[in-house]
Amino acid sequence: MSDCVILLKVILLGDCYVGKSSLMQRYVTNKYKEDNYHTIGVEFLRKEIVVNNQRYLLQIWDTAGQEKYRSLRTPFYRGADICVLTFSFDNVDSFDHLEVWWQEFLRYSGQENAKFPFIVFGNKCDLNMENVEEQRILDWCATHGESLKQVAEFTKQKCSSLSAKEEVKISDMTKKDSKVDQSNCTGFSWLQNGIPYLPTSAKENTNVDIGFSRAVQIWEQIHGYSDMIDVQTSDVIKLRKPSILKRACCL
Ligand code: GDP
Ligand code: MG
Repeated sequence: MSDCVILLKVILLGDCYVGKSSLMQRYVTNKYKEDNYHTIGVEFLRKEIVVNNQRYLLQIWDTAGQEKYRSLRTPFYRGADICVLTFSFDNVDSFDHLEVWWQEFLRYSGQENAKFPFIVFGNKCDLNMENVEEQRILDWCATHGESLKQVAEFTKQKCSSLSAKEEVKISDMTKKDSKVDQSNCTGFSWLQNGIPYLPTSAKENTNVDIGFSRAVQIWEQIHGYSDMIDVQTSDVIKLRKPSILKRACCL
């Protein structure tokens, strides 16, 4: 494995109380506390992970979902590499509002929908509530990630030799005791319906690691990570667009 680390800015968006702060805390510190986080504006934590034998430093930005904080959070969307759209299963409105979050992100990040690495987390899956139908979620992801279908095809071909077991191992590199919901993590079928979607639980640590790993995987595919390998001898430290090659850095 190379010493080079790629820095990615990840933005967590979604309604208030869906569990964004809990997901970030679970992912970075492996802790979960009831009613302990009140996010004002934005906060961030960092975590280093390995995906497909490449080191990444994820800078995860947790935002406050309330309308009153909009002007505080939106300036941070610029320069984002990955956007995690979050709803929770105990609140149908939070799913309906994904559209609003998706649009707000595109507007203030200056990104175009085409090929931006979004991922949807349906949090609090431990509650086993069925008030947000899975088909609605998959339909929303399919219609908002049209351009990702081509990427999915490419990924499937390229990764067809990887088994589901190997994929789990990649995510487990970062946390040995994380639980992985195997039924939702088989192969690369998660890429077939546009924006990838995973049910998560910050409380029970379900699919949290693998969710962030998948977000990075889709970023890799969209940005042609394989093209970057040749330039990793560079000692450039975290430069931004337009050249994706300049994202590679060595620490
Ligand atoms: P945020 O406003 O989106 O940042 O949400 P928080 O992380 O502050 O969580 C809001 C509430 O939901 C808190 O009481 C959490 O303990 C609870 N919560 C967060 N994640 C989960 C989860 O996965 N399952 C359950 N049952 N509760 C959760
Ligand atoms: Mg919060």
